[in-house]
Amino acid sequence: MPNDKDLLGVNYATANYQLHRNLLFALAQRLGLLDCFRCNEIIVDIADLSIEHKEAWRSAIDPRVAFFDLENIAFSHVRCNCGAGSRPNRKYATEAGRKTAYSRRTKERWNRHRRDQRHNARSASGRLSASEADHEGSNPSLAAKA
Ligand SMILES: [Zn+2]
Repeated sequence: MPNDKDLLGVNYATANYQLHRNLLFALAQRLGLLDCFRCNEIIVDIADLSIEHKEAWRSAIDPRVAFFDLENIAFSHVRCNCGAGSRPNRKYATEAGRKTAYSRRTKERWNRHRRDQRHNARSASGRLSASEADHEGSNPSLAAKA
């Protein structure tokens, strides 16, 4: 009878770890939680996903509480999380990261504004059915990844 490693290609602990990671990524994606805490860019690749403590747990009054506090958890790119180590009190690891996030938010605000305008114009003309309106805001690239 084949063992787990023969069946899975890796040992059971490795497979189980990967399953938990895949599940975390899929759920975070469905809940819209994959905006990087540091740079605000969306994390699109599971290999880039890291769990981030918003406030450094090591220097907290109660490190154990701070470590496990889910309110203190966010997601970030591995590169952003690692880069932030030297600037633990800054949201953005680098000045370039801060500027990228700012321009992205500005662009997103503009796109949302334009989409709302088009949506309102179509809804007003009666060409958009209720089911089309429901799907108007969804991101097909995210849905496809899930
Ligand atoms: Zn990032």
